[in-house]
Amino acid sequence: MTFEALGLNTSILKALTDAGYTKPTPVQEQAVPAAIAGKDLLVSSQTGSGKTAAFMLPSLHRLAATEPTAAGRTPNQEMQAARARGERPRFRPAQPKMLVLTPTRELALQVTTNTDKYSVNLRRIKAVSILGGMPYPKQMQLLAKNPEILVATPGRLIDHMESGKIDFSQLEILVLDEADRMLDMGFIDDIEKIVAATPAGRQTMLFSATLDGVVGNMARRITKEPQIIQIMTAANKHENITQRVHFVDDLSHKNRLLDHLLRDESLDQAVVFTATKRDADTIADRLNIAGFSAAALHGDMHQGARNRTLDSLRRGQVKVLVATDVAARGIDVPNITHVFNYDLPKFPEDYVHRIGRTGRAGRNGQAISLVNHAEGMHVKRIERFTKQMIPVNVVEGYEPKKTGAAPRSSRPGGWKPGDNRGGAKPGQRSFSKPGAPRRDGVSGSAEGYKGPGFKANNPYNSDRPRRSYGDR
Ligand code: ADP
Ligand code: MG
Repeated sequence: MTFEALGLNTSILKALTDAGYTKPTPVQEQAVPAAIAGKDLLVSSQTGSGKTAAFMLPSLHRLAATEPTAAGRTPNQEMQAARARGERPRFRPAQPKMLVLTPTRELALQVTTNTDKYSVNLRRIKAVSILGGMPYPKQMQLLAKNPEILVATPGRLIDHMESGKIDFSQLEILVLDEADRMLDMGFIDDIEKIVAATPAGRQTMLFSATLDGVVGNMARRITKEPQIIQIMTAANKHENITQRVHFVDDLSHKNRLLDHLLRDESLDQAVVFTATKRDADTIADRLNIAGFSAAALHGDMHQGARNRTLDSLRRGQVKVLVATDVAARGIDVPNITHVFNYDLPKFPEDYVHRIGRTGRAGRNGQAISLVNHAEGMHVKRIERFTKQMIPVNVVEGYEPKKTGAAPRSSRPGGWKPGDNRGGAKPGQRSFSKPGAPRRDGVSGSAEGYKGPGFKANNPYNSDRPRRSYGDR
């Protein structure tokens, strides 16, 4: 694939050759043609994969083909013309056609520098950065040139919008670069305000390390029929994380198995996920009594207590963290070798966040779900979401009393469609077949337990009131 084949104009192609770019990166291959066609984009791909050019090249291509702003006059020129006519010049707000929002000044400057490089042969098109910390007169000077492209951090931009220095009514392209980081930094309200000030007919492109959770919600709100581009890497496919499911008969079986697995020699530090804050506390207490250095982390704790717990985890003083989803989001501790799902998460997205707490910094990790027999559908949903099969594992001495329905096969090399028959290796059965149609509301693997007495014996079956999912 070449840049020519992506449909970019010759001025841009020449700039790319001069910049030493010989061929597009994978994210550019996908994003450039779609963006030239005017589509909204939601893109996740790793750092350094060339996302700046992925949004800037098609945007420059489109802007180069549109009419110049304000019939070719900048606000500066208009003020001069007004003076020449003997009128009192009135300040005219800048009317950019493209806005790039970035979380930090450094990133904004990088984007602007790259844009200058790509647009070197497009005389008319100018990009400027509007940043916190930059002297105000300097910013006014930049805005007075009425640049086609603004690259800004949200906070400072809001100031200028509110004082009438920028008018987004002519905006055609909106880019949110590193959207997840902007949200982490608390810019959500500013972003919403900025988006609301732009025309509904704009093209929107959002770049983020993840498209799940809060970012995903915002992304869906601000885009229209977006094309989703996800360039998977080993890290976000979780190839360095070994996943497995262990079936348990009841709570006491679950607790005994957890204790056993926590004593694994390869375990350095672990996170145990629970559905509720109360369980997090109870299990942490129980584990402490059992001799582990454990601590709970959940949303009912004061910020100070949470920070202290996280510090102890980072310093290795806490070996087992028992946490709820929200509290554990974003924990980045390289020595976490194991993640346990004491309870399965409510949403498959959360499963991915959870297991991502291990296997950090290029290391290997283990993600172990302790699942009771009635939760088959749940595991299946997770498998379908991650497009990965999760093998079932049995530990000698901790076997579940109930055994599964007709065992499903597992091939060590992985699952392939239709591959649900054949010899199962003991202790290594495939749990379910991702994507298999659900016929009767019960997962295939749970069918074997539907006989009389099933309900009575199983405290997790439907008669039991649903637990609430704490922290939500
Ligand atoms: P990201 O935003 O995905 O982290 P950047 O857009 O900052 O990545 O690009 C990373 C580096 O790769 C930059 O130095 C950029 O100039 C360079 N780069 C981008 N696309 C190409 C390409 N097609 N060929 C060569 N270098 C490229
Ligand atoms: Mg980038």
